[in-house]
Amino acid sequence: APPRDQDRALRERARKVIPGGMWGHMNAARLPAAFPQFFWRAEGCRLWDADGNEYLDFMCGFGPMVLGYRDPDVDAAAAAQARLGDIMNGPSPLLVELAELLVGTVAHADWALFSKNGTDATTTCVTIARAATRRRKILVARGSYHGAVPWCTPSLAGVTAEDRAHILHYDYNDPDSLEAAAQEAGDDLAAILATAFRHDARRDQELAAPAFARKARALCDASGAALVLDDVRAGFRLDIAGSWEPLGVRPDLSAWSKAIANGYALAAVTGSDAFRAAASEIFVTGSFWCTAVAMAAAIATIGKLRDGGGIAQMAAMGQRLRDGLAAQAAAHGVGLRQSGPAQMPLILFEGDSDFERGNLFTSETVRRGVYLHPWHNMFLSAAHRPADIDRALEATDAAFAAVAARFG
Ligand code: PMP
Repeated sequence: APPRDQDRALRERARKVIPGGMWGHMNAARLPAAFPQFFWRAEGCRLWDADGNEYLDFMCGFGPMVLGYRDPDVDAAAAAQARLGDIMNGPSPLLVELAELLVGTVAHADWALFSKNGTDATTTCVTIARAATRRRKILVARGSYHGAVPWCTPSLAGVTAEDRAHILHYDYNDPDSLEAAAQEAGDDLAAILATAFRHDARRDQELAAPAFARKARALCDASGAALVLDDVRAGFRLDIAGSWEPLGVRPDLSAWSKAIANGYALAAVTGSDAFRAAASEIFVTGSFWCTAVAMAAAIATIGKLRDGGGIAQMAAMGQRLRDGLAAQAAAHGVGLRQSGPAQMPLILFEGDSDFERGNLFTSETVRRGVYLHPWHNMFLSAAHRPADIDRALEATDAAFAAVAARFG
């Protein structure tokens, strides 16, 4: 039977046996009280929480669910492989098939290797860049998120200065600041790391400026450093060949995870021939990095996305939501800022530095069964249909009315 009214009791039990009740970005204590912590099940673009409430979802598990929860084709491919084996003493033949698929799909890729989390992939890119160049400095955009280990985690608790000794910062989309950081690194520059676009939480998103991407490429070409694209969050939602492909800028190394296997745990690094030797020189592995089920899921996911027009579908549904929200905000006289690609939308309210409006707005939609986020970018999936967007817009209309009533 579906659970009823269990969220509060689960949180109380969790407080006793889990540090802080929950760690990291999925801690519901970061969100208004209306948001649930625990979820019971999910299907398509819908979630059910441990209190028995149903939601139309616009977070997609913070990104992985690119085709929708429990996609039947992906789950069938995963189940078929599960009947054969998952962990074995080495990879299944699917390892080669998946690497061939990525090399055939991702424009810059001559090879691929696999791990589990986005942090594994970004850290491996940094290690390969240093191994290839025999240099140390890594340029990272101020405020960009690349994972949760000492060289990049946003909390400095437990991090030493030595962990960050060779990380230099630049401002995203600012070619001059990138050039200055490269000059500071001098002949010790190993890599320039950049996310696909600026998707830092709690501020407007910015698409990558072509001049910025080209400057990053030129600085790496001139110095022999690696251009590393962190495509963990945006990968397979903007362009199946890589998120900077529309800009005409190809990275040397890319980090992938989230959407690669529609929710099965998998990450990948893709690279060009110039970095192949270094990628075979470093030692990377993990107990679960070769699970065949996740590779079967990735093959099914990438094939279905490529052949099914999923990216265009997500963009269209995101635009339908964006247009609807813009019209409603105007009608209610509420200042709303929408930024980023339509399929990865962020909504912020004007004059809302403490997120009071955003918290009220999303609390009102959550109460009406629509899960939106007050300050993190959201994610559309290929399972979202026009009727889902229209149903979401009924909830947002009421939520705008509540914001207008409280804040004028
Ligand atoms: N890079 C980016 C751009 C991300 O968005 C994330 C995850 N939010 C990561 C790296 C780290 O991925 P993971 O949480 O799977 O380790």
